[in-house]
Amino acid sequence: MKVDVLVVGAGPGGSMCALECARAGMKVLLIDTKKNIGEPVQCAEFIPLQLSYSLKGIDYQSAIKQEVKKMVHFTPWGEVGECDSPGYVLDRAAFDKAIASRALEEGAVLSLKTKFLGWEDGLAVLKRLKTGEVLKLKAEFVVGADGPRSVVAKLTGEGNSYFLLSAQRTMRLNKEVKELWVFFRSYIPGGYGWVFPKGELANVGVGIDPKFNFSLDFALQEFLKELRALKVVDEVFGSTGGWLPANGLLRLVRKNVVLVGDAGGFCHPITGAGIANAVLSGALAGKSLAMGKLEQYEEEASEVFAPPLERAKKKRELHMQSWDRLEKIVPLTWIGFDEYWNKI
Ligand SMILES: Cc1cc2nc3c(=O)[nH]c(=O)nc-3n(C[C@H](O)[C@H](O)[C@H](O)COP(=O)(O)OP(=O)(O)OC[C@H]3O[C@@H](n4cnc5c(N)ncnc54)[C@H](O)[C@@H]3O)c2cc1C
Repeated sequence: MKVDVLVVGAGPGGSMCALECARAGMKVLLIDTKKNIGEPVQCAEFIPLQLSYSLKGIDYQSAIKQEVKKMVHFTPWGEVGECDSPGYVLDRAAFDKAIASRALEEGAVLSLKTKFLGWEDGLAVLKRLKTGEVLKLKAEFVVGADGPRSVVAKLTGEGNSYFLLSAQRTMRLNKEVKELWVFFRSYIPGGYGWVFPKGELANVGVGIDPKFNFSLDFALQEFLKELRALKVVDEVFGSTGGWLPANGLLRLVRKNVVLVGDAGGFCHPITGAGIANAVLSGALAGKSLAMGKLEQYEEEASEVFAPPLERAKKKRELHMQSWDRLEKIVPLTWIGFDEYWNKI
């Protein structure tokens, strides 16, 4: 078997990359360990409105569950602030499927329940999870779009080394919530709690920095207790969680291997947002591959994405140094306050 591009991971990063390569006439194999694309969802499912301009031609509108315009932040000292945050809370599985479907329409081939294991004698080694069969494949290029704990990244010399941990419940809302709600609390150290509404339900979760050696479950339970006392949510419909890279950009190109999305460290070290950057980096990598100009991907990605990610990385360091002084540190290190943008 021989392909031009093997894309490992059919999340938004991998499928966008597969789409651009296939559109340019390259022979593309897109693989994922999952049985169904995007399932189970491990996400709070918010995307910023600006991303819609990079999704032209992709039929994802039915994946939109709720439009939001603002983000409201609840501080521990009682101040409630808000900022503009236009965008959508999605059905993330439907969103991921929509991008992958578009890639298939352009000619990419999808193989689910297929795991990338590594390389042997210059060939990519894949395992079919249903049968246990191991296959070898000649791929001119391999795209690591395999998420926060990318095997492709690790095998090519580096991988994400710093993660935030998150736990989330999908819950029924007792009242209408129109905005994204973000809570800063001492029992959610190095992170925040969120309520992202999607109609009658909401994604309710916490993300913490494990450097605090604090219980993630305790943080979540305390947060749910607070929300229940406020009569915001009741019944639980589902649980998820996951790892969020917080180290910023990795080296993205090594020989014929390219990293996109979380695998390349594109996730925001403060907010944990990564869908938009996965889509954009996947598209950029795909276009560079199609033009045969991989170095252009590394250059453009560094120019566009590195500055905001570097800022966020520095803010995280600050966050960690002074978390015991929340009143001072939250405004300096949260994107919803002017201080975030004024000072490093
Ligand atoms: C709880 C939580 C809430 C979040 N909320 C938000 C949010 O509201 N907004 C936002 O922008 N971001 C959010 N994020 C981050 C966001 O989910 C990620 O940044 C985004 O999914 C990155 O996309 P990706 O395509 O790079 O990787 P992924 O979406 O992680 O896709 C990687 C794919 O690779 C596959 N894979 C892994 N290993 C292999 C292998 N060896 N072989 C084959 N396939 C493999 C996986 O099955 C997976 O489908 C959240 C993350 C978490 C954990």
